[in-house]
Amino acid sequence: MSFRASVLTLYPQMFPGPLGISLCGEALARGAWSLEARDIRDFGRGRHRAVDDTPAGGGPGMVIRADVLAQAIDAASPPEDPRPRLLMSPRGRPLTQKRVRALAEGPGAVIVCGRFEGVDERVIEARGLEEVSIGDYVLSGGEIAAIVVLDAIVRLLPGVMGAAASGDEESFESGLLEYPHYTRPRAFEGREIPEILLSGNHAAVARWRRAQALALTRARRPDLLEPPVNDV
Ligand code: SAH
Repeated sequence: MSFRASVLTLYPQMFPGPLGISLCGEALARGAWSLEARDIRDFGRGRHRAVDDTPAGGGPGMVIRADVLAQAIDAASPPEDPRPRLLMSPRGRPLTQKRVRALAEGPGAVIVCGRFEGVDERVIEARGLEEVSIGDYVLSGGEIAAIVVLDAIVRLLPGVMGAAASGDEESFESGLLEYPHYTRPRAFEGREIPEILLSGNHAAVARWRRAQALALTRARRPDLLEPPVNDV
């Protein structure tokens, strides 16, 4: 069974979008994973299929109704569905490569995309939604965040990346940022490729890359070298 993604959204036309292109799109076309985008509005109330209402207690914006969203979730994911249920949310635990890898090893994911001010808190509790953030900034909706999460997962699925090895050396996989890359031409606007990379000495190249990765991580992301605080 390949990885199954179900996305719940008010804008199903945003899918597959970028996920239909290149690596992810080719994998989708050959069935290495599957994607369904379900319209939350199918479960909306009344003639206008209303999905949202004003926040209890007042304040700006609108909130997606718990009953509408719960029905949409239940239709996409019955109680015995083993797939984790994620809610894209700036309040969530920030996504890490470690979490991405764990998701890629599982049966799939049900991903709820918020809009407006977000969703009624009670549906988060009642349906056991895991809130996931893609960073400390606010988007207008969860769809782009869902695309980010799925893109990161799909490239790790078996057989999706051309060279299987290219997954292991990348930024974050080793706990370090990746070393710099170079390709032809040998001289670009007076800048040469570092001599050692042209030496043919594989051990020396590996040492150089490791030192570069360490130096880069120390300079840009010293937090990655510290013991993990947020480990998932
Ligand atoms: N009022 C909310 C923000 C709502 S933004 C708050 O202050 O927390 C509307 C929707 O966009 C959210 O429900 C969520 O699904 C999505 N979203 C916004 N920023 C996000 C982020 N950084 N990561 C994941 N999803 C995000």
